[in-house]
Amino acid sequence: MDTQSQKLKRAWITRRRNGNDIPWNKGLTAKTDKRVAKNVELSTATIRKQYANGRKNDIQHTSKALKKQTETKRKRGTIITPVKKGGTHNWGGKISEAMKGERNPSWAGGLSPSQYPREFNVRLKERIKQRDNYTCQRCGISGIECLKKVGRKLVINHIDFNKNNCKENNLNTLCSRCNIQINQDREYWTKFFNEKIKQIYA
Ligand SMILES: [Zn+2]
Repeated sequence: MDTQSQKLKRAWITRRRNGNDIPWNKGLTAKTDKRVAKNVELSTATIRKQYANGRKNDIQHTSKALKKQTETKRKRGTIITPVKKGGTHNWGGKISEAMKGERNPSWAGGLSPSQYPREFNVRLKERIKQRDNYTCQRCGISGIECLKKVGRKLVINHIDFNKNNCKENNLNTLCSRCNIQINQDREYWTKFFNEKIKQIYA
């Protein structure tokens, strides 16, 4: 039997496939919709249970936890400065002017949310970076060095240059510079990376 959240997730995926990106609960509240009310009740019960089992407020803000977050993010090459209390997320904040509309890098003429398939998601990309030890598979620069020197994060490259081929053996980690440079000889680098990746999956 599926849990309620699994059911909702599947329904959401189906709607996305059909081109409907509006969340099922948009504009609904616990007062106007039974399903919303039920979800609010469930999540409240979960949090109550966590507190009963000793959950502390703002677990992620203890200095130990912040240190751990800093370490992890540094390893991933996503930050340089330490994670500060309250400094990591700003869910309620406004999207900055620089990231609005067509200035947003993910903007694509308002037609499609992404030129990549949905399976090419954060989780997959993170898995590939981890597999590649957070280093560029061409020049060997680490994620943190890349961020310091180039000011950019490591990226995931499609070895055969086909954005729809998201098999793990077609993906590898590159720094943004190498990711641009390999375009000058695609055939060579496809062959080169294919040889390299074969060793990983041998
Ligand atoms: Zn590189």
